[in-house]
Amino acid sequence: MTEANPDFSKGAAYINGQYVPIAEAKVPVGDWGFTHSDVTYDVVHVTDGGFFRLEDHLDRFHRSLEGYRLDPGVTREEMRAILGKVVALSGLKDAFVAMISTRGVPRVYGSRDPADCDNTFIAYAVPWVDVIKPDVQARGAHLLVAQVPRISQNSLDPTLKNYMWRDFTRGMFEAKDKGFDTAILLDSDGYLTEGAGFNVFIVKDDKVITPDRGALRGITRLAVLDLCPELGLEPIVGPITFEDLMEADEVFTTTTAGGVMPCARVNDRIYGNDRPGPISAKIKDTYWRKHKEGWHMTPVNYADADN
Ligand code: PLP
Repeated sequence: MTEANPDFSKGAAYINGQYVPIAEAKVPVGDWGFTHSDVTYDVVHVTDGGFFRLEDHLDRFHRSLEGYRLDPGVTREEMRAILGKVVALSGLKDAFVAMISTRGVPRVYGSRDPADCDNTFIAYAVPWVDVIKPDVQARGAHLLVAQVPRISQNSLDPTLKNYMWRDFTRGMFEAKDKGFDTAILLDSDGYLTEGAGFNVFIVKDDKVITPDRGALRGITRLAVLDLCPELGLEPIVGPITFEDLMEADEVFTTTTAGGVMPCARVNDRIYGNDRPGPISAKIKDTYWRKHKEGWHMTPVNYADADN
């Protein structure tokens, strides 16, 4: 049901070539995005009416599309316009904006050939969400290193954004059962990878280190690596063992939906005074101050809602 004056206030979506309120955006059960998790996506945030590092997100989305051999039949310019329009329709100044391509429903009933599918392009804007709630960020998140290892990067390339979260979901159940806020995963060789929707950093002296394997090349991670030199910190992308994690001065996580999120505990290790560490707090403050100053921001044209 599409009304004459649809209400986009809870979010706006683009699906099947149309703009609809978020609650009306539905994927058919026969879409391989649903049945085989044959889908890729990206998420960019909007704060104070501007996209953050939109072109970096579009670059990564295109890399993921190529990696999955998905072709949604929409140019980069059209994607940019659609993303702007879903935000404009929603009227949201702070939003979580997703772009998705699913394999689609096979044209031939029962086909097992991916070439028989017309790939989709879906986009939506919904109100801002934090992967780790603001009150938890303020006291410092408690992370559990889950028992389940991150799926091998030989089977699933973690640099191509995906919804195959079985290992993360198992980790999150374990974390919640044990009273932690969320989970982080090691790979089967014991090296730190990432968490359910976020990258992980450790701080040791003036070094700010994030894993070189098993993890998405997060755009927030990139922003932190970019910020380090001006804060007198040395950014490093390198291997991190469980022992490195335990011996770190501080730990923080990063994601589009939350920014820089300090941690206070990992397993039974308590960092500093059981609050966000000073370097994590400085990086977080700088990240948000630079947003206010327009760093890497592309303004949304809200007049597009009427076009
Ligand atoms: N790692 C995973 C598995 C993610 O899903 C995400 C974000 O959704 C991230 C890391 C953080 O990436 P970004 O900073 O680009 O949001």
